[in-house]
Order: sequence, then structure tokens, then C-alpha cells
Amino acid sequence: MDFRSDTVTQPTPAMREAMANAPVGDDVYGDDPTVNELEQWAAERHGFEAALFTTSGTQANLLGLMAHCQRGDEYLCGQQAHNYKYEAGGAAVLGSIQPQPIENNPDGTLDFDKLKAAIKPDDCHFARTKLLSLENTINGKVLPMSYLQDARKFVDENGLSLHLDGARVYNAAVALDIDVKEIAQYFDSMTVCLSKGLAAPIGSLLLGSKELIERARRLRKMVGGGMRQAGILAAAGKLALTEQVAQLKTDHENAKKLAVGLNNIPGFSVNSEFVQTNIVFAKLDQSVDIESVAKSLADDGITITPGNPIRFVTHKDITSQDIDVLLAKLTSAVD
Ligand SMILES: *Cc1c(COP(=O)(O)O)cnc(C)c1O
Repeated sequence: MDFRSDTVTQPTPAMREAMANAPVGDDVYGDDPTVNELEQWAAERHGFEAALFTTSGTQANLLGLMAHCQRGDEYLCGQQAHNYKYEAGGAAVLGSIQPQPIENNPDGTLDFDKLKAAIKPDDCHFARTKLLSLENTINGKVLPMSYLQDARKFVDENGLSLHLDGARVYNAAVALDIDVKEIAQYFDSMTVCLSKGLAAPIGSLLLGSKELIERARRLRKMVGGGMRQAGILAAAGKLALTEQVAQLKTDHENAKKLAVGLNNIPGFSVNSEFVQTNIVFAKLDQSVDIESVAKSLADDGITITPGNPIRFVTHKDITSQDIDVLLAKLTSAVD
């Protein structure tokens, strides 16, 4: 049982079979029928003109940011944004793009007043503000649909483009019980991770206009992301989107169950309001020595990342019974 992340999910038997049987070609030459089919299908499925299959979510974000912004341009994002905080500064290092982070509100949104104040005037002192980048879900929280609508209005009024880091956008769609297209419609570009809760072994998508994806395709080659018989991966990626989305509902139910259970363990407290998808954060008080708890769980084959707050992620390889087992072990570990 591995609660560290939904990235640990094993590919399904159907994925392994599709991978074994996928027709492939050299994708850098545009010759891989399975990649081509996935990209065409995914563009249509999410309401964009074009799509690009990438090695990772980090690469998809990087290519998206670089396709929107030139050297000396700037993107607005949250302090907690993955593409600001957890991608090794790639946009700045490789794209010479300046991030302008804004403090996230507790629900993950960014205040439009603060964003407005951060937009630079057209003046040679400043970087050129080009893009607003949002994330949904962000730390497991779902951005409200009304906020997305307001964000679209904000970028239109201010001459910016709008990008979504949608690594877990399907978790958001499932939590809201809407089609993912309803979220995607507000954005000029969007990324989707196939290799998190959706269980593909490798791969993400970048979605956008034909021109944006053309620029991103060149950039992908530049950063070494041009893959050859990548259809072996795309075959699994397609199944992630067609077969695995329904599983997310179960993952969310398991996360809620875990949140309720953790709140009954001395020393653990979860703000259940923010347990909206498959990620649970618990604050620990002084009484919990989480390092030693993690060690004792490891002896029973349960993997967690010690920390405070501590993050648990549910996914297809965690069952409802596994939650019961974890809660029982935690209860005895803190006794
Ligand atoms: C995981 C994640 C990414 C990056 O995906 P990798 O495939 O791990 O590079 C980007 N954004 C968010 C919000 C993520 O959770």
C-alpha cells in the first residue's frame, strides 16, 4: 500500500496488452499511428485544435509556457503552483521566462486584484506580462467553475492568455460531476497527466491551438522529448482517458473515508472542507512522531511520506479495505 502519490499506480492489464499490440512508427517523423490517433482524439475530446504527447507533466507545462512566452516575458501563477514551485524552475532556466507568483487563497484561487496589480506596464523596465497559469485540482482542491469564468474574463480584459496545469483536471471534473470539456473551454492551453490517477505508466498531453502545438512540438524536440516508437506509451495513455476516469470517483470516496478516520486519531486533524478529490492533508500535533510512525508502517508494507502536514493520496491500487488497515495501524502506532 503506497499512499505517497497517485503516480505510483501500476498500469492495468488492458494497458499492458494494448502496449504489446500497438502499431508504432517513428513519431519524430510523424509516423506513429498510435501517437497520431491519441493526439487527434485528445484534441477533439478536450475541445482544442491540437494536442501533443509529452514525456511528463513537467515537460508539458514547460512546453506550454515556452510556446506562450518568449525570453523576457512573464507568467502569473500561484506561489503553490506546480509549474512554479516543483518543476526545478524550468520556465526560467530553459525559457528565460520570469514567473510572477501570487499568494494562493486557501481554496487555491488567486485574487484578481493582486493579479491585476502584478501586471507590468509596457515599459522597458519591466518583463512583458503574457500569461496567467492556473492549476486544477491544486493540492486536491477543485477551482470553482465561476472562478474559471472570471479568470477568462480577467485575461481577456488584460490581453493575457490563460493556461491550465490540469495534471489532475479529471479529478476536478469527476468531483464536480461535469464533462472535462466544461473546464477546458476557458483555457488557451491545458496539460493533462495520464500517469497519475489515470494509471498510464508514462505520458502527459499538452492541448492548444494548432500554432501553439506546432511551436511546442519544436520545443519538445529541443529539450530531448522527441520519442520514436512512442505509440507503445500512447496506447496506454488512450486507455487512461477512456477506461480509468470512472475509478477517480472511488479514489475520492476513499479519500473522504480516510479524512473522517484520521480525524478520529489523536494528534491528527484534517480540514475535511478541502478533501474534495484524492488528496488528504492532515496536520499533526506535537504528540505524533511521524518519522517513527512511518518506519513502523513500512514494516507492515505501508508507504507514506512523513511530513507535517502529512499528505496521503488515494488511487486505484488503494482499496476501501486498505484505508481501514491504514487507520488501524496508525491508531496503534500513535498509542
Ligand atoms: C505531477 C504534476 C505535474 C508534473 O507531472 P510529472 O509527470 O510528474 O512531471 C504538474 N502539475 C501538477 C499539478 C502535478 O500534480
